[in-house]
Amino acid sequence: MKVISQFSELDILPRPIAYVPTMGALHPGHYQLLIAAKKYAKNSLLSIFVNPLQFENSSDLINYPDSKDADMELALAAEVDYLWFPKSAELYPDGYQIISAGEMGNIYEGASRPGHFDGMLTVVARYLDLIKPDFMLMGEKDFQQLCIVKKYIEDRDIPTKLIPIPTVRLESGLAYSSRNSRLSESSIRFAAVIFQALVAAANSKDRKEAISKGMEILHKEEKFQLDYFEMIDSSNFQQVAENQLGDRVICAGWIDGVRLIDNLPVPRK
Ligand code: AMP
Repeated sequence: MKVISQFSELDILPRPIAYVPTMGALHPGHYQLLIAAKKYAKNSLLSIFVNPLQFENSSDLINYPDSKDADMELALAAEVDYLWFPKSAELYPDGYQIISAGEMGNIYEGASRPGHFDGMLTVVARYLDLIKPDFMLMGEKDFQQLCIVKKYIEDRDIPTKLIPIPTVRLESGLAYSSRNSRLSESSIRFAAVIFQALVAAANSKDRKEAISKGMEILHKEEKFQLDYFEMIDSSNFQQVAENQLGDRVICAGWIDGVRLIDNLPVPRK
């Protein structure tokens, strides 16, 4: 594995290259993205950068876990070819202009975290422009993020192929997340309720049944403070009519003050 020390090395990366952008605190979800990257291209590139622009809450940014040594080990285990730790000054030598994530950026996660998706898209757009990766792999775990980036790439005919990777979960169903490290052991157990609610909803006959079944499960867990639980059409991220079936169920909330998000595809009937 080669650690990129000079910004100019990005220009001479061998092709084809599959790129995985992350914010570090790597876990088995990231690992799967890196393993998949090697299947798409001979060379894989991992970046680790805690992007300040996508943190609307400064204490969340300050508390973001930092585990550089463990991250390097995981990257080695995943046979990453190139590892890059971008710096703000390198990314934006002439400053930056915030890129708007549009309407999709203002609902659900975007409504609860104003500016989050604009900040995310600003840095992802910069990565795409600098690296011009043949493939970029992103997790379905952050489904709204994935849909926003997909739209950005499609709208601009950017030649990078975006590869979505299904969510990697603990045995309980809880999705791996860098934020899980801020949960107590008992809260980790309670948090599996999110997955249970999503499964019940995804297997419902329409949105009405999905919401009622999902909420019934979530309400049993007092520690879970709900933000949203919805069945949507992922093409526009809008909720579907009560008697219709969307293609995704999405959920967000807090346990012990830690924000958790998750989603599941609705199986085609
Ligand atoms: P992050 O470091 O949180 O910005 O995540 C970097 C990438 O890893 C994003 O594309 C995430 O969607 C993806 N990711 C995070 N958690 C998981 C997971 N449990 N399973 C699959 N992908 C994930």
